[in-house]
This record gives sequence, structure tokens and C-alpha cells, in this order.
Amino acid sequence: MQALELLHDQIRQCRRCEEDGFPIAPPPLVWGQAPAPFLLIGQAPGLSDWRGDRMYLGPAARKLIGWLCEAGFTEGDIGTTIYMTALTKCFPGRLPGKSTDRAPSPKERANCRHWLDAQWRLVSPRVVILFGKMSIDTFLPRMPLEEAVGRMFEKGGLTYIPLPHSSGASTWLNDPAHRRLLADAIQRIREAREKIAPPPPILGE
Ligand code: SF4
Repeated sequence: MQALELLHDQIRQCRRCEEDGFPIAPPPLVWGQAPAPFLLIGQAPGLSDWRGDRMYLGPAARKLIGWLCEAGFTEGDIGTTIYMTALTKCFPGRLPGKSTDRAPSPKERANCRHWLDAQWRLVSPRVVILFGKMSIDTFLPRMPLEEAVGRMFEKGGLTYIPLPHSSGASTWLNDPAHRRLLADAIQRIREAREKIAPPPPILGE
């Protein structure tokens, strides 16, 4: 069995947070091939992911994939050129009495970190896309979203590109200035993609 397949199998069997008493909904979800030049890290799977047994299936994911396609990726690149994962691999459930998802607690994130590290080692990315504030805060110094989105950060030989969360629950993108920052972030991803896989030269007529 290949190393990534084996890792995915091990992750799918994990019930650590359930055993710790968190109201999560297993099984853990994984999606991607390794190695891959891009690694995308979100917060946690959502309800649609849990129902569909795969990450990045819900409306927020459709929006995210639209942004990645604006940056020049094809839908076929998602899960191949870009390994798709999250800080935690299990759907954390809904907030009591609400239709919004519960954010994974620090303990759940700590429980799941070794799985993320193992994925990271096998994926061996050159560019890490941080999707959402929780993911950005995990890997970059704390700063307001306005200071992070639209920029590229170099750290430890890797390029980090922050994206805001695309969830309908977030109002951040209602501000036109923030939408301009998102356009800058998409441009940063496009530049990183072209650097790794330069576009074919335009031939003279
Ligand atoms: S969130 Fe991660 S650590 Fe917690 S049970 Fe799921 S796979 Fe295991």
C-alpha cells in the first residue's frame, strides 16, 4: 500500500476527539494526492462534506474552488495539484440551536495536528494556501485579516498565501475593500501557480 493511502486509512480510523467527549461526527475526511506542489488548509469539514464523505463539497467550497479557478487552476487540479485538507478532519457539528458549524476547539486541533503534519510531509508542498482566519493564525503571526489577505509570506523555504473564509456566515467580504484584497490574493495564487508551472510560450503567427 502506498504511503498516502496508508496514512488516509489511519486517519479515517481515528476517533480520538470522540473518545475525548467532543460532539464531532466521524468519520474523518481526506482528499488529495501526494506529492503535490500546493497544500490547502482550511478549518474543518462541514455538514455537506460529512454527508458526501469528502472534503470541500458544500456551498463555501464551491466558492473557494471558483476562486482557485479564477487563479488559473482547473477543477481537475483540485485534489491533485492542490492537496485539500483542514486543521481537523472531522465535522465538528453545528452550534447548539444554530445552523452554523461549531469551530474545532484548541484541543481538537492539537489532537489532529500530527495527522496534518504527516499529510504535509508526504505532500511536500512548495505553496501553502491558508483558507480562513483559524488556518492563517495557526501558521502566520497573528494579524488582522485585512493585513494578511492579498499578501504572500515566505517562511522556511515555503510560500504561504492567506485567503478569507468563503462561508456565507462570514460578513468580511461584504466590504468592497475586502473584496479587492481577495482579488489580490487570487492574483498571488495565480503568480505562484505560474512560477511552479509556467504557462506555455505564445508562439508567433
Ligand atoms: S478531528 Fe482529527 S484527531 Fe479528532 S477524531 Fe477526527 S481525525 Fe481524529
